[in-house]
Amino acid sequence: MAFKIIASQCTQCGACEYECPSDAITFKGEKYVVDPKKCTECRGEFDTQQCASVCPVPKTCVPA
Ligand code: SF4
Ligand code: SF4
Repeated sequence: MAFKIIASQCTQCGACEYECPSDAITFKGEKYVVDPKKCTECRGEFDTQQCASVCPVPKTCVPA
């Protein structure tokens, strides 16, 4: 499993990219995207998914 970003809600603040411990989030094709191959759901590093924690828009970083 991985998380994903709902692009239509994303304000492109960039906070999630900075906080992701797996470098799974990149700005690509004019939107932020999660690479599902890299996303670990923050397992072993944090108790909560960092992208969802820091995102200012509710329900924008969600399970894919
Ligand atoms: S759940 Fe964690 S590893 Fe996955 S994209 Fe979000 S911050 Fe990165
Ligand atoms: S933290 Fe949320 S609003 Fe900001 S770039 Fe990431 S998904 Fe978009």
